[in-house]
Amino acid sequence: MSDIIKLLPENIANQIAAGEVVQRPASVVKELMENSIDAGATSIKLFAKDAGKTLIQLTDNGKGMSATDARLCFERHATSKITTSEDLFHIQTKGFRGEALSSIASVSQVEMRTRQAPDDVGTQVTIEASKVQQQEPVQCQQGTTFYVKNLFYNVPARRYFLKSDAIELRHIIDEFQRIALTHPEVEFQLTHNGAEVFMLPISTLRQRIVHVFGSKYNEKLVPVEEHTDIVAVTGFIGKPETARKTRGEQFFFVNRRFIKNTYLNHAVTSAFQDLLPQGNFPLYLLYLEIDPAQIDINIHPTKTEIKFQDERAVYAIIHAAVRRALGKFSIAPSIDFNQETSIPLSPLRSGAEIQPPKIDIDPSFNPFGAEPTTTNRSMNLRGWFDRKENSASGWQDLMEVATKIENRDKQSASLELDIQDEMLFIQHSRKYLVCSSGERMLIVDQQRAHQRIRFEQLLQSMENGNGAAQQCLFPETFELTAIQSALVDNYEHELASLGFRFSRVSSYKLNIEGIPAECAHSSGESLFMEALAALENEDEPSTSANEKLCWKLAASGGIRYGQMLTMPEMESLFQQLMQCNQPYYWRNQKPIIVQLDAQQLTAYFS
Ligand code: ADP
Ligand code: MG
Repeated sequence: MSDIIKLLPENIANQIAAGEVVQRPASVVKELMENSIDAGATSIKLFAKDAGKTLIQLTDNGKGMSATDARLCFERHATSKITTSEDLFHIQTKGFRGEALSSIASVSQVEMRTRQAPDDVGTQVTIEASKVQQQEPVQCQQGTTFYVKNLFYNVPARRYFLKSDAIELRHIIDEFQRIALTHPEVEFQLTHNGAEVFMLPISTLRQRIVHVFGSKYNEKLVPVEEHTDIVAVTGFIGKPETARKTRGEQFFFVNRRFIKNTYLNHAVTSAFQDLLPQGNFPLYLLYLEIDPAQIDINIHPTKTEIKFQDERAVYAIIHAAVRRALGKFSIAPSIDFNQETSIPLSPLRSGAEIQPPKIDIDPSFNPFGAEPTTTNRSMNLRGWFDRKENSASGWQDLMEVATKIENRDKQSASLELDIQDEMLFIQHSRKYLVCSSGERMLIVDQQRAHQRIRFEQLLQSMENGNGAAQQCLFPETFELTAIQSALVDNYEHELASLGFRFSRVSSYKLNIEGIPAECAHSSGESLFMEALAALENEDEPSTSANEKLCWKLAASGGIRYGQMLTMPEMESLFQQLMQCNQPYYWRNQKPIIVQLDAQQLTAYFS
């Protein structure tokens, strides 16, 4: 047999590598921005057209490249950042793999202009699908400008699978923010289709965070600072009121590199324990400085995952640092070990007699007496009835149920009653409705049941495009983050068809005049934010945006656990539930109704 193995041509090998490094326009943004930071730039300006699909243009004032380097930088494994394998353990730069530019150039049309400070003229290189088209001297500013055009023009399948502009822009903003939030000493600018998205001057870290997320954060950032031999943790956490329904504003940076780490995330969220309502995520931006020899960032080409040599110690330090910051700002009680907390026992004086404990007894007290005295009132049943949680209406309901049962029993003795016609409910733990249907016993989750009903109503009016709006009494104006603003652009129609009425005051300010009538009890801003949080949530990729929106709004307001229901309320809730398309299931196929049939019940008593 003849030999069949061949070395892949350079351009194909690059394209394969690009599969890992360049997934979408945002990956190009990330790689180019990181290169600019590594080149010592103090100003980075980014322009994108059509969410980067048509053009990503980045200009920096970094150190630039020589004519030779300008060509070499597009070769695979070409890097100025490491020379020996030893260097891998002391990486201080963002890049080191030398594969970003070669990958980008293999799947797009790139033009680059670059000049180093001492040179009079710079170099321009044009390269398409890994083939250099042209290289010539050019007059240009010191630093480097990249024009990356028509990403994936030569890989139609990948271009086809790019998401809508709004989604791709959101990814760009994500990457942009991550880098901007680590380098307040650098000026950044982002413009999309001619509109300014970010203009971030050189500033302190706190100012940078406020510039990125909006001025309302200024008062709400709590500094964190902890220096240990293993790791230094600095940065900010948000006061509990800044917590949101999505994880959008949670950042870990290790040696100024954004990373994802669910284990360390737990260290922070568990420190917030009890301070946040369930399902709310705290804001945090924590910057860890650690000896590069103690971590491995070489796990994945996009470098967002890293390995720590002693992850448990880092966890404990982060947890303690956050706890301490919360305690220091009187947000959570912190344990002060310097304070003496034990109660001193007074020593027995010599010669003093030990007295037996005394109990006072009221000999006239008769627990069965007709007229209770005020002193023992709380001991007897009437007092117990009077307590607030056993309010009169609750007992009336129970009595009503009892009477109905009694009457039914009387009737059923004489005639065969169809129990379906008149169902009786008992509320258990203010959480479940219990009733019987034929041979079966039904247990209905009251909160889920009501959410299902509201969900179907909302979805229907949304799909008919006629969501009724309730005029806000006081129209509210509030700020949006860049990501929220992109979401509003993308889902304008959906939000309007649900019943939201809003208008833009400026790119990042929104005025809300009306909210869906089904949610009339809520404040405009908080409801709108809930809706955006639902759209931002990527946890359930199979759920459509419409469904996410409707579930979110269905959950705001409505019947909750702990709410006492009257008999007519229970009846109406059950009837409405039975009219739903899917009465048995809540989100993610979680049950709303649990049934026990006669056999199961009998089994319990055997
Ligand atoms: P890496 O960043 O891993 O070294 P890249 O492919 O991203 O690999 O870049 C290759 C090389 O090109 C870099 O090592 C650097 O020397 C040079 N380079 C890239 N971008 C710039 C820039 N904006 N300014 C100066 N040099 C750059
Ligand atoms: Mg790089």
